[in-house]
Amino acid sequence: MTKEMICISCPMGCMLTVVQEADGEVRVTGNTCKRGETYGRQEMTCPMRVVTSLVRLEGGVRPVCSCKTRQPIPKAKIPQALEEIAAQLKRAPLRRGDVVIADVAGTGVDVIATSDIAAR
Ligand code: SF4
Repeated sequence: MTKEMICISCPMGCMLTVVQEADGEVRVTGNTCKRGETYGRQEMTCPMRVVTSLVRLEGGVRPVCSCKTRQPIPKAKIPQALEEIAAQLKRAPLRRGDVVIADVAGTGVDVIATSDIAAR
């Protein structure tokens, strides 16, 4: 399997060609540095993304608070993570960095608030 992709690890945006052989070996070309090779391998074998969303809030000066996963999570877990975030109803106040959900979607990664919302 061959995939063409742009490395998003820095603004240079190198065009990568990533080849996965039948035996599972992955080769990356087109990268200018080691980070591009790491990115290409990750994208081919287990793509990861930081998820950003909004969590519902009661008793706050706003009805929602922005949030994100503290680290990237596997792309395949994003739908479950978004469902868990949508099912939450937190109580204000929330401060930037507060844990909104621990271990979202069983990934071992927490969802944290990314803004401060005061109580009404
Ligand atoms: S391969 Fe290296 S230089 Fe090229 S975009 Fe990725 S991080 Fe930047």
